[in-house]
Amino acid sequence: MSARTNTETPPGRPAAGMLASAATHRDSDGNALHMPVLVLNASYEPINVCAARRALVLVLKGVAMTEEENGHFLHAARIAMRVPSVIRLLEYRRIPHQSRALSRKNILLRDRNTCQYCATVLPSGELTLDHVIPRSRGGSSTWENLVACCHLCNRRKGNQSPLEAGMKLMREPRAFNLHTSRHIMRLMGRGDGKWRKYLFY
Ligand SMILES: [Zn+2]
Repeated sequence: MSARTNTETPPGRPAAGMLASAATHRDSDGNALHMPVLVLNASYEPINVCAARRALVLVLKGVAMTEEENGHFLHAARIAMRVPSVIRLLEYRRIPHQSRALSRKNILLRDRNTCQYCATVLPSGELTLDHVIPRSRGGSSTWENLVACCHLCNRRKGNQSPLEAGMKLMREPRAFNLHTSRHIMRLMGRGDGKWRKYLFY
C-alpha cells in the first residue's frame, strides 16, 4: 500500500518523523508499535494489515483515521497517542485485483503451512513445494501447479500425478488473490475482538 507523502505537517499535528524516537509508555508496551493493525478502505472494506508504527504514521499524515484503539499509549515529545487497532483510509483507494508474487513463502502462506495431501501442519522449514503435475512431465511452476507438501508425501508421490499416486489434494490450488488475503486477515484477527466486526459479516 502506498501512502501519499505529505511533506508539510498540518498545524496541531506532530510530525510523523518523531515516531522514530518515540518511546512507549510502559516496558510491557515495548511491542505496541509492532502489533498488527487492520487497515480499512474508506468504504470500511478490509484491505491490509500493517504494523502499528506504520498505522500511526498514516494517521499523523492525515491519510487515515483511527477506528479502534488497542489500549496502548505511545508517548512522544509532550503528547500521548493511543495506538490504533483498526484504521481507515480517508480517501477511497482502488485496490487492483492483483495477485501476489509467486514465491515459496506465498505458496506456504496460501496453503497455511499445511501439506495439501495429508493435511499435516508443519513449520516452513519442514515443508517443500510439490509440482502437482511433475516438472518432468511438463508441469509448470505456477500458482495452480504448486502446493505445500511434507517431505513424506513428496517422496511418496515421486514423479507421478496425484491420480497415479493415489493421492488427493485437499483443495484445488489457486492464485493468491484478495479473497485469500481476506482469509488470512481473518485468521490474524481471531485474537482481536475489535477486528471482528470488520472481518466477519
Ligand atoms: Zn503430507
